Amino acid sequence: MPDKTLIVMLGTGTPGPDPDRSGPATAIIANGTPYLIDFGPGVVRRAAAAFRQGVEAFGFGATKIRAAFLTHLHADHTIGLPDLILTPWIMGRWQPLAIFGPKGLKAMCDHVLKAWKLDIANRVNGAEKLCAAGCKLKVTEIMPGLIYQDANVAVTAFLVRHGDMANAFGFKFKTTDKSIVISGDTAPTETIVEHSDRCDVLIHEAYSQHTYDRVSGKWKAYRRKYHTSSVELARIATRAKPKLLVLYHRASPGGAALPNPERVLLEEIRRAYKGNVVVAHDLDVF
Ligand SMILES: [Zn+2]
Ligand SMILES: [Zn+2]
Repeated sequence: MPDKTLIVMLGTGTPGPDPDRSGPATAIIANGTPYLIDFGPGVVRRAAAAFRQGVEAFGFGATKIRAAFLTHLHADHTIGLPDLILTPWIMGRWQPLAIFGPKGLKAMCDHVLKAWKLDIANRVNGAEKLCAAGCKLKVTEIMPGLIYQDANVAVTAFLVRHGDMANAFGFKFKTTDKSIVISGDTAPTETIVEHSDRCDVLIHEAYSQHTYDRVSGKWKAYRRKYHTSSVELARIATRAKPKLLVLYHRASPGGAALPNPERVLLEEIRRAYKGNVVVAHDLDVF
């Protein structure tokens, strides 16, 4: 179904190394073309797993991912960068990779290419004779507004509120049949309400009040400044009215004591939000 937009959850975790949840990474497939949002640890392996499950748009070895969008420069969203640059190239990508993200992304990309300089030269000049262009990057540091447009999608970036991390963005993807908003990491912010007003899908981070109550004072303050609670998200979704609310980047601390932390999170949201809501898992497709 090449003309239907799909959302593929490649990683729904946080910095915590949960073996069931890779680091934040989401793909929107529009007209058969994949657009990646964030590249947390495990991103290429998860894209390969999705390919094996039938999402052919990624290509074998994730070679068809040609455009990626970064919400912010935190490690859990960027550790997959060298993987995303190098692995699909080794597997056959011969076109440059386009990456859009906040100020600082260019320096990060330059450092990655420098760090792997020896290997890159070896693969270009040695027996593999890989195409050098496939390891090149087209990096664009973004400002709020329309940041990308082609025949399949228009992507708008907007600022969110992520504590002391400046230039943290959320994105709105408009495809031929869907409007999709992804929060990135954020405390409650009006920009999410504005941009996700009656959208088809709002993908939003959330932590449960239950886990919040069980972390230390320092981490309570951190969460309030950097992230969004179930109760706060319920208020946002009630105002924005997305057709579907998808929860990701679920914070776990304290949740280990719960037999089913996901159900607790969902119940908290459903108490105050009457729309459709699901908790995403890695490799879910919407
Ligand atoms: Zn994060
Ligand atoms: Zn973050």
